[in-house]
Amino acid sequence: MCAAIMATKIPDAPKVGMVSLGCPKNLVDSERILTKLRSDGYQMSADYAGADVVLVNTCGFLDSAKEESLEAIGEAIAENGRVIVTGCMGDEADVIRAKFPQVLAVTGAHQYEQVVNAVHDASPPIPNAFVDLVPEGGLKLTPRHYSYLKISEGCNHRCSFCIIPSIRGDLVSRRIDAVLREAEKLVAAGTKELLVISQDTSAYGVDTRHEPRLWKGREVRAHMTDMARELGQLRTAEGRAPWVRLHYVYPYPHVDHVVPLMAEGLLTPYLDIPFQHAAPSVLKAMKRPANEAKVLDRIRKWRDICPDIAIRSSFVVGFPGETEADFQYLLDWLDEAQLDRVGAFRFEPVEGAAANELPGAVPEEVKEERYQRIMEKTAAISAAKLAAKVGRVLPVIIDEVGEPDEEDGSIGATARSQADAPEIDGNVFLRDVGAGLKPGDMIDVCIEDADEHDLYGVPV
Ligand code: SF4
Repeated sequence: MCAAIMATKIPDAPKVGMVSLGCPKNLVDSERILTKLRSDGYQMSADYAGADVVLVNTCGFLDSAKEESLEAIGEAIAENGRVIVTGCMGDEADVIRAKFPQVLAVTGAHQYEQVVNAVHDASPPIPNAFVDLVPEGGLKLTPRHYSYLKISEGCNHRCSFCIIPSIRGDLVSRRIDAVLREAEKLVAAGTKELLVISQDTSAYGVDTRHEPRLWKGREVRAHMTDMARELGQLRTAEGRAPWVRLHYVYPYPHVDHVVPLMAEGLLTPYLDIPFQHAAPSVLKAMKRPANEAKVLDRIRKWRDICPDIAIRSSFVVGFPGETEADFQYLLDWLDEAQLDRVGAFRFEPVEGAAANELPGAVPEEVKEERYQRIMEKTAAISAAKLAAKVGRVLPVIIDEVGEPDEEDGSIGATARSQADAPEIDGNVFLRDVGAGLKPGDMIDVCIEDADEHDLYGVPV
């Protein structure tokens, strides 16, 4: 007689839904929280209905972002009812609780432990649950082939339109060995493109006096240049250097030292520098860091060293006190700077920001008119810069591959060049790609056409 086999009933693991709002930095926080919850035995739910509890990771940077956050909380409560709020807006627990008294818990930005504890309270993990292993490199909400790498939290500046330092505090840099280890794991797990983010990437390590740590048997400083050089040494499973993009860089003098690394191929020739304005009086009122007159000369030098460097920036129009002459100065500056990618915003007062008290509020219709003018100017510059790429062969990374065409079986794909960061810049739309192509593949393509924002090409 054979022994009866007792079936072990594995209890279902509790499921967590996540709504992640705001910037890429928030996405990184969401990934960290989910990675921790997964290792505690939780499953993720793709919809409200299947979730035992829903986490809403909010953004509180602008009033419009706060509204969006409140809307998302309202939707999660209506659809599921068991909601925990975290993120930047979590620092305004009173506002959230006044509107939604039924929320289970409210925790602030980067309070990873608190939010994980709140989930444990709301929906306790199953003791000794049979859990899936957390994939190496953590759980990622971004597609597997690119990853955000957060190097610090907080900011030492006090730009007058910004409340981030009051929400997130002063700069706290991560250890350089921890940053490099995370990057190495991400690349080992399939990441082909690392997006370095922080509030102020060029200030990395200022708070720790650039404390060096041992990495691969040598001392490496917590400094943007050292970090960039080390990230450039990583290799994917195919033996290629991953693309490494620097975001939120302020033009401090040492930025000049990373541009040669781009020319050497160790770093992606791309700099995201949020200039915000060009007129000296406006920059002064904004209290912007690294505000100096010679930026145009430096941009020219960067282009001499690395002709393919793409510079992305963002600008605010209608800042209090901005005169027509200031705005015209900005347009003329843009003519000289010939930036590759530009985002423009109309000034919007943020509750608690010093800029709200500044004299010289710009009427809404003037803001709108200036916004239209800057958009026209930057679209024309972008179109001319992209047109100059027609006929060139460029490396691209594949984001998405389409289905074969029903008639002729041809396949298209969406890719990006080194000048395009995911989600914020343009695309390279490809025709007639090979059947085996997949997201994350890096190939060379010939550019056949261009418009204001995107390129069109075919694999070579
Ligand atoms: S640099 Fe200025 S805008 Fe950026 S986070 Fe710091 S204070 Fe805010």
